[in-house]
Amino acid sequence: MKYRLYIFFNNWQEGYRFDDETNKPRTVKIVASLAAVCCLCLFVFFAFLNRHDVDIYVDGKNVATCKVPSQATVADVLMQAGTELSYNDGVYPALDSKIKNVSRVDIFRAREIAITYQGEVYLLSTSLAGYGALRQAGVYLGDSDSLSVNNDGTQFSVATEEKTEETQVIVLAHESQTKENNQEYKDYKKILTEGKDGSAVATVTTTYINGQAVKTEQLITEIISTPVTEVVEVGTKERPVIKPPNVTYASGGGAVSRSYIANVSAYCACPICCGIYSNGYTATGAKATQYVTIAAPRSIPFGTRIYIPYFKDAPNGGIFVVQDRGGAITNNRLDVYFDSHRAALNFGRKNLEVHILE
Ligand SMILES: [Zn+2]
Repeated sequence: MKYRLYIFFNNWQEGYRFDDETNKPRTVKIVASLAAVCCLCLFVFFAFLNRHDVDIYVDGKNVATCKVPSQATVADVLMQAGTELSYNDGVYPALDSKIKNVSRVDIFRAREIAITYQGEVYLLSTSLAGYGALRQAGVYLGDSDSLSVNNDGTQFSVATEEKTEETQVIVLAHESQTKENNQEYKDYKKILTEGKDGSAVATVTTTYINGQAVKTEQLITEIISTPVTEVVEVGTKERPVIKPPNVTYASGGGAVSRSYIANVSAYCACPICCGIYSNGYTATGAKATQYVTIAAPRSIPFGTRIYIPYFKDAPNGGIFVVQDRGGAITNNRLDVYFDSHRAALNFGRKNLEVHILE
């Protein structure tokens, strides 16, 4: 091109001075030269046309728009816009990408994040989010790990889940069943079948999250002994409400503190009734006396007077003194002392209204 232009100028000057026999070659040269100039103009014009707008976004916000030539790179655009980058900022497309087909450049500013993983805290400056940030920190999650991120995306924590499995002998707890009996009072309770725990061989799987046991599962593989269900019989009958008698008792009466229906039996001092304790003396040391001595449960202290209206015509006017105990005398039971075994047998066993005196 330069050579041709040189020729053109030479010829142009010389052409006027030394006119050749024909104009033809000079005309060709002039046309060629004009075309060359036009080409140059077009080239510059198209180069100018090739400039286009590129938007620059920082963290999703448009901060600048630049007009740049197509052959520029992303780095050139940022330099032209005066947009500064820190070492850990992210840029898309990459800095060395040609801007030719790009109309938007995104910058993701780096932020400080903390990743808690297996008890360690990793601090990191990154423009990446989620798993990208983890990879940058060199943290790779296992299948059973789970990631949680706080609201502003700066605190990551990875929960590591582990499972252990062992074979153990486990206890199979027995169940309990209640059988109702409408012939007995509500406070009646009797164990018909003793409950018994069983045992089994089981695979016990324990799940740990960050080293803390959170779940245990048992898979029974073999039963060693089956548990026995406890069966308890309970009474359902309402205990009748007894009005305290409005009477003055023959031998030293007193106010009534408690009234109820007691299951009253009888005994004497014989070996049949008292076994090894058949010496005629009560648990208080006092001699057992008919119409005085009564055996009561431990909940009623020695010396307590008990009025039993059934005996109101007896010499004691129905008032007994607690002087004795008995292995079988529990809860609602009382045992009245008689001088003879015959008399005790005659009395038998009765549900009687009784009043504990103060
Ligand atoms: Zn007896």
